[in-house]
Amino acid sequence: MLQLRDIVKAYKVGEFSQRALDGVTLSFGERGFVSILGESGSGKTTFLNIIGGLDRYDGGDLVINGKSTKQFKDADWDAYRNNSIGFVFQSYNLISHISVLANVEIAMTLSGISKRERKAKALRILELVGLKAHVYKKPTQLSGGQKQRVAIARAVTNDPDIIMMDEPTGALDTETSEEIMNLVKDVFKKIGHHG
Ligand code: ADP
Ligand code: MG
Repeated sequence: MLQLRDIVKAYKVGEFSQRALDGVTLSFGERGFVSILGESGSGKTTFLNIIGGLDRYDGGDLVINGKSTKQFKDADWDAYRNNSIGFVFQSYNLISHISVLANVEIAMTLSGISKRERKAKALRILELVGLKAHVYKKPTQLSGGQKQRVAIARAVTNDPDIIMMDEPTGALDTETSEEIMNLVKDVFKKIGHHG
């Protein structure tokens, strides 16, 4: 499904260039659960941002479903991100002044479905992640594990092919981390993916 060929990404800071990815070649199949481990600063976030279409590589090629992305325009990257990828960020990235429900609904803004359907779907997914009783709370009124559940609900709401999570349990205790990882697998099964 995804093939990286000799991917290079460097960040320029003044005169200095930092190679975060130095010729990464790797493939991912149709389905499965993959973890990427590495010390802080080793390029995990850079890697995810590039394969998730949030940032651009400087060299090599990313092949998506057999198609090279070398000639991709911004619109192609936008379509890929919106249709194929669900992201869970380490810091949750929830909008703090709107409700849990609104945080999930907002992810469907570009999906072309009606407001009514968006609400129904958001409620269904929030129930699936165990937040039925909390949908009208603001994110600040939730625990870390609950915030991560909202982020997961938001990430799966457009039925992505791939869900990417950047240190999804980095801010959680061990027990909550296990719950969250089991939840991710469970939610993906229930909405029809098997990875
Ligand atoms: P990880 O997620 O594994 O901690 P990152 O992908 O965030 O690693 O970072 C990889 C390297 O790239 C680090 O040396 C980091 O300092 C550098 N880096 C990351 N983002 C930027 C940026 N926006 N500008 C400059 N350097 C960056
Ligand atoms: Mg990181």
